[in-house]
Amino acid sequence: MQLGLSRTVCSKRSEQAGVTMQLGDQRASGNVEDRRDLGIGGGLGIGGVVVAVIAYFLGFDPGTAINVAEQVAPKHDTREAPKGAPTDEMGQFVAKVLGSTEAVWGKIYQQYRPPTLVLYDGQVRSACGLGQSATGPFYCPGDEKLYIDLGFFRDLQTRFRAPGDFAQAYVIAHEVGHHIQKLNGTFQKVEATRGRISQAETNRISVRMELQADCFAGVWGHHAGTMNQLDSGDIAEALNAATAIGDDRLQKQTQGRVVPESFTHGTSEQRVRWFKHGMDSGRPQDCDTFSSNSL
Ligand SMILES: [Zn+2]
Repeated sequence: MQLGLSRTVCSKRSEQAGVTMQLGDQRASGNVEDRRDLGIGGGLGIGGVVVAVIAYFLGFDPGTAINVAEQVAPKHDTREAPKGAPTDEMGQFVAKVLGSTEAVWGKIYQQYRPPTLVLYDGQVRSACGLGQSATGPFYCPGDEKLYIDLGFFRDLQTRFRAPGDFAQAYVIAHEVGHHIQKLNGTFQKVEATRGRISQAETNRISVRMELQADCFAGVWGHHAGTMNQLDSGDIAEALNAATAIGDDRLQKQTQGRVVPESFTHGTSEQRVRWFKHGMDSGRPQDCDTFSSNSL
């Protein structure tokens, strides 16, 4: 199956060279913090630090993550990281996708302020605790930063054979979607339920958060124009690849079975559907996964 996907992706990519070219004209965002060569810095007792992060894979519990982080680690690494658009190819690509999300959300969402995107290698300190490559990209509402390990993108290409550009852009747009949830108060509302609801209910809310972030990523795609050249088959293909790490597949790979109650991101099918919903509509208010009875 992976071979089949890979083959299709290759042919699709060559047909769609224009998709990448268009991004070439996009302004690169200056809100990129490049920590790739800095590592984590000293002073942190790694052995004692098992810090929850708001992780791409592990689900959502910002309150816990933030509290733990404040106990064990200073909020910020003191060493200065270069700010501005990186000059290497992958860094440029990331900065341009981020620039595109800034242009779109700045236009359609009045309360918008841009997040910072942190590029890192291996480990990084965030206001939500220690971020590690293994957890995948994540957004930290405490410092309003997106944390991206480029190794994850390399994984997308090699392990999951995802079509590079679109899958990577989607991941960034999804994390920006979480930033929108910070700005519109969704994170705070969810935080208010902490400790008062069951784990199963927490997981259900997490799925709604994740599917809304997918929908917001679609809203960006709608306005970004670049994405309009993709047909829905392409989107499904790319999203399925990008979400090969979706909960259902991840669980199948690791446990050999699926346990719906412990889903925190939604199934691949749900994620594709909500992304397309946002993509078709272009309106953030149509991404109300919390009121929707059927996800
Ligand atoms: Zn997410």
